[in-house]
Amino acid sequence: MQTAFESWIHPAPPAEGGGLRVVPGGFHIDPIRPVDRAVVTHGHADHARPGNGSVLATPETLAIMRERYGAAAGGTLQPAPYGETLRIGDVTVRLVPAGHVLGSAQIVLEHRGQRVVVSGDYKRRADPTCAPFEVVPCDLFVSEATFGLPVFRHPPADEEVAKLLRSIRLFPDRAQLVGVYALGKCQRLIRLLRAAGWDAPIYLHGALAGLCRLYERLGVPLGPLVPATGLPRDAFKGQIVLAPPSATADRWARRLPDPVVGAASGWMRVRQRARQRGVELPMIVSDHADWDELIDTVRDVGCGTLWVTHGREEALCHVAAGMGIEARALALVGFDEEGQGETADDPGVGDPGPGAPA
Ligand SMILES: [Zn+2]
Ligand SMILES: [Zn+2]
Repeated sequence: MQTAFESWIHPAPPAEGGGLRVVPGGFHIDPIRPVDRAVVTHGHADHARPGNGSVLATPETLAIMRERYGAAAGGTLQPAPYGETLRIGDVTVRLVPAGHVLGSAQIVLEHRGQRVVVSGDYKRRADPTCAPFEVVPCDLFVSEATFGLPVFRHPPADEEVAKLLRSIRLFPDRAQLVGVYALGKCQRLIRLLRAAGWDAPIYLHGALAGLCRLYERLGVPLGPLVPATGLPRDAFKGQIVLAPPSATADRWARRLPDPVVGAASGWMRVRQRARQRGVELPMIVSDHADWDELIDTVRDVGCGTLWVTHGREEALCHVAAGMGIEARALALVGFDEEGQGETADDPGVGDPGPGAPA
C-alpha cells in the first residue's frame, strides 16, 4: 500500500521557512524565509529569495540569483543542470524545463516508489528565451494556477506584438513605452520583436539592463539595446522603450514624447486592469499557462493526485475532480498574486497595483 504524499512532502508554515518541505531530503522547495537547504524552481523574487544556507537550482537560476542578490544569493550554490539525477537524503531529485523563464525548472522527486513533480511556474507556449516545458508523468503534480479561470485564454504572442508595431506606424511622433517585468517578460518581448523584424535599437530603463546582459551572456541574443537616458526627447519618436510597469506611469516617463503606454502581461486580458493603470496598448503576453494549458498539462502528466497553488485554485480543482483526479488547493503563502514574480522586495521594479480581479 502507498503511503500518503503528506507523510513526506507538505507545505511548511512560514515560521519554519514556508514553501514545500521535502522531509526525507531535508530541504524546502521555494522557501519564503531562509532555510538550511533550499531547492529553487526559478529566479522570480517570490520563488528565489536570498539568505539560504545552500541553494540547489539550475546554473541559469543561480546566475540570476547572483545578479539580483550578490553574496546573499546563498551560502553554497549547487548547480543542477536539466536532466541530471541527484540523491539528497532519501530522495531522488531531477530538474526539468518548465518553459517559464530562463533556467526555470520543475522539480521531479522520487521517494519509495512515488513520483512527485513540483512545477513551479510554467507555460506550454514556445518561448525563444528558455527551454520548453517537459511533460513528466507522475503520481502527484503540484501545479500553479495563476490564470486558472476559463476567461484566461492567451492569444498568440506574435499577434500581440503586431499590435505594437502597428501602433508605431500609426503614431510616428510618439514613443512606444511598454511596461515589462525585468526577468523573463522583458527578454521574451525583445525576442518576439526581433522575430517580427524590428531590428532597430530598443531603449531600456536602467532596471532592465542587468538581466538583459545576463541573458545575452547565457546565450540568448537580444540585438541592439540602448539605455533610455541622456537622449533628447525627439530621439524616442517612433521608437520602443521598455521599462518596469511601475515606471511607465511615473516621472521617469516624462522624458519621452507623448508616449503610447503599453503593458505586456496575462492580466491585460482584464480590460479594467489595463484602464486602471493607464494602459493604452494592452498586450496579452504571459509566461504562465492559460486555462487550456493548465488542463492539458494535468491530463498530460497523468497524475492521480493534484495540488494547486499560486492563484485561482478552485476552478482547476473542480475540473480535475471531474477527470477522476484527487485535487486540493494548497495554502502556500508568500507568492505574488500578480503572478509575475516581482514582489515588494524588488523596489522600483515590482507592480503592487490594485487587488486581484474578481
Ligand atoms: Zn510565481
Ligand atoms: Zn515566476
